[in-house]
Amino acid sequence: MARNVAINPPKMCQPMGAILAYMGVHGCVPLVHGSQGCSTYPRYNIARHFRESAEVAVSSLAEDAAVYGGAKNLTEAIKNVKSRMNPALIGICTTCMSETIGDDVKLISKKALPPGDAVKIIPASTPSYVGTHLTGYDNAMRTLVETLAVKGEPNKKINFITGIINPGDIREIKNMLRIMKVKNIFLSDISETLDTPIMPGGHKPLLPDGGAQPSDIIDSANSLGTIAICRAAGSAATYLQNKFNVPAVIAPAPIGIANTDRFVQNIGMLSGASIPDEIIRERGRLIDSIVDVHHYMFGRKVAIFGDPDLVSAIVRFCAEAGMNPTVAMTATKQKDFAPDIKAVNTEYKTDTQILEGTDLYEFHESIKTYRAELILGNSKGKDIADDEGVPLVRFGFPVYDRVGVYRYSIMGYKGSIYLLDQMTNAILGHKYDPDKLHQ
Ligand code: SF4
Repeated sequence: MARNVAINPPKMCQPMGAILAYMGVHGCVPLVHGSQGCSTYPRYNIARHFRESAEVAVSSLAEDAAVYGGAKNLTEAIKNVKSRMNPALIGICTTCMSETIGDDVKLISKKALPPGDAVKIIPASTPSYVGTHLTGYDNAMRTLVETLAVKGEPNKKINFITGIINPGDIREIKNMLRIMKVKNIFLSDISETLDTPIMPGGHKPLLPDGGAQPSDIIDSANSLGTIAICRAAGSAATYLQNKFNVPAVIAPAPIGIANTDRFVQNIGMLSGASIPDEIIRERGRLIDSIVDVHHYMFGRKVAIFGDPDLVSAIVRFCAEAGMNPTVAMTATKQKDFAPDIKAVNTEYKTDTQILEGTDLYEFHESIKTYRAELILGNSKGKDIADDEGVPLVRFGFPVYDRVGVYRYSIMGYKGSIYLLDQMTNAILGHKYDPDKLHQ
C-alpha cells in the first residue's frame, strides 16, 4: 500500500544543507530565497547543534510574492546583505515557495548588483520537495564549484568535500593529512566557522574567521583529485572530473578499519604519499581498542539511524568490532545504502534489516521486532531509546540535547576509537552490571 504519511522522519529540507555548505566558505553569507521560517528553522538547528549563532539572510517572501513573483524581494535582499555585511560571496538557496513561483534566480541575482561587482553570487537551486538536507548540501557545493573553479597551473593538492560532518571530524581528517604531508583544499570547511574560538579581547567578527578561501575553490580545478568524504556530496567532484579532468574519488566515509584503510589508500593513490608510521600506529590502536572491549561488545544488538553514508560506515564498523547491527535506517534514499549493508551482511554473516527513505516510526517498530541493546543516531532518537530502555549514543546532525558532540570526531582510526569507547561506555554505564554481562 502506498505510504502517504511520515512520522518523525529524521531528515531536513534542502536549504538546511545548502546553508551548512555556504557557512564553510570564508566571507560567504547564506541567503534563503523564501519565507521567514525557511531561514529560522535552519538557524535554530545550527544554534542548537553547534552552539554558535548563524548569520543567515532571507528574502522574506509573503503572499504578494506568491502572486507577483519574488524578484523584488531577492534583489532588495542581495543589496541589503552587500551593504550591511560586505561579504565576499552571497550563497543563495531557493525554497518550496520560490521554486513553485518559478523565479529565475540566476537572472535576478545577475541583475541585482552592477556588472563587475566584487561580490560573487552563488545561485543554487534547492527545492525542498525533492531530496533532503543532503541534496541541498550537494547542490550548493556543485554550484559553488561551477561558479568559481577556473583552470590554471597544477597545484599538487587534493580537494576534499566533507558532506555534513562535524567540525571535530574535519579537524581529524586534516590531522591525518598533516601526518601524511598531503597538501589539500577543503571546498567547504566548518571546522572554524561553526566552532569559533573567542580570542583575547573577546572580539568575534561579524563573519567568522576560517572556512574555505574562495581563491582555493577557484584553484580546485587544478588539483590532483577530489575526495568526497560522504558520497551524497559527490556531484561537485564529478563536475570537476568532467569539466577539468580532476579525478573524482567518491568512496565510503572513513569510519572503522576497512573504510579508513580505503580512505588512506585513496589519498596515497592521488597524492603519491606513502603511509607514515604514525598512521599505522593509529590503526593498530583502533584494533587494540576493539580487542579491549570485545567481551563487552561481542554480539551486542545495535540499531542505527541517520544520514546514509554515516549509517552504512557505522554498520560496517560495528560488524568489524564483533557487534550485531540489527537495523540500519536512513530517511534519505541513496543508491549505495542497501548494497553497502548487504555487503556487510554477506561478509560478516549478519542480518541487518535495511530501512531506506522512511521514518523513525518504522525504525521503532523494527527495533521492537529485531531488538536493540544500543541505539546510534541523532537527538531525535531519544524518545525511542527511552521507550525501549536502552542507551542512545549520539552522532550526526542535529544533536541538541547534549553539548560538545560536534567537537569530537568519529572519523579516521582515532575517531573510530572514540566512537567505540562511547558505545562501550554507554553499555557499561546504562543499567547493566559489567560483571554480569554475557552471563
Ligand atoms: S520545507 Fe519548504 S517551506 Fe518548509 S522550511 Fe523547508 S523550504 Fe521552507
